[in-house]
Amino acid sequence: MKSIFSVFKRGLRKTATSLARSVESVVSNVEKWDESTFEELETALLAADFGAETAFEMVADIRDRYAQGLIHTSADVKRIIADDVVKILESVSRPINFNPNGPTVILMVGVNGCGKTTTAGKLAWMWKNDGKKVVLAACDTFRAAAVEQLKLWGERTSCQVVASKHGADPSSVLFDAVESAKARSADILLVDTAGRQHNKRGLMEELSKMSRVADKALPGAPHDNWLVLDAGIGSNALRQAEEFGKTVELTGAVITKLDGTGKGGMAVAIQRKQSLPLFFAGFGEGMDDLQPFDPAMFAEAMFGIEDERSVTSADNP
Ligand code: GDP
Repeated sequence: MKSIFSVFKRGLRKTATSLARSVESVVSNVEKWDESTFEELETALLAADFGAETAFEMVADIRDRYAQGLIHTSADVKRIIADDVVKILESVSRPINFNPNGPTVILMVGVNGCGKTTTAGKLAWMWKNDGKKVVLAACDTFRAAAVEQLKLWGERTSCQVVASKHGADPSSVLFDAVESAKARSADILLVDTAGRQHNKRGLMEELSKMSRVADKALPGAPHDNWLVLDAGIGSNALRQAEEFGKTVELTGAVITKLDGTGKGGMAVAIQRKQSLPLFFAGFGEGMDDLQPFDPAMFAEAMFGIEDERSVTSADNP
């Protein structure tokens, strides 16, 4: 069986390689550390997109422990930073609040190309394999290919897709989808939304309207609004979170394309800055390339810390 830790390790290989290289080259000769060592370490963490505050705090922690004589090797440095990462990630993590009285409606929001449609498909696959009934709503009616792309995911996962034609009103598609999910006693309704409109205001107004319409069809819906973030965009992610957060009440995030970037520190920055729990991490384009986010595995894989976990895919929550 595939170990989940090995999935994190493989998915974060690029980040781990560049971090290990830069951290080790900075801290290799522990006896000769001086102030420039700490500055270089901070630069290495900034280069991996941990964000200024996080990098500063981590280096302060290292500086303190070094002064106390607690650091002997570069492995000690990686372990301390990884522990700090886990603390940050765990401070905002929480389980998903599934609606016990009907379908849980989850809106996937984010800019074009961040991976919303693909993530909705992967989630449908994962939850379906968990025995849940999932319905997909094709509410990205702005992008011509998005509806077709989601229908394809519907076929691959054998999940129902509620869709209309290109250019249709996303709120009316959503209303129909909620009604359909209720009628079918679905557990989860995953809503793919547009990442772009003719202008930003149009997009933001559309998202507010969708929330209102969902609540009308099912009071309390949407239960979650997840921001989908492409790990490769670095600090832009923080700006995107601020922009989307002005219109919809973001309740969590999914980070995609961690496999393609050396800057996975963004996952830490977003949780630190926006207090958004990360629920899932995308490590590739395949159906199985999505994992529930695990702070300890993430931190250890990111710093190339070997671990003998034997948790398997079957243990997924
Ligand atoms: P959307 O516009 O937000 O719906 O984005 P899409 O779901 O269409 O994804 C844009 C591109 O990113 C597609 O080519 C996806 O296959 C790809 N993609 C999505 N998630 C991941 C991931 O975790 N890793 C990699 N390598 N590619 C991804």
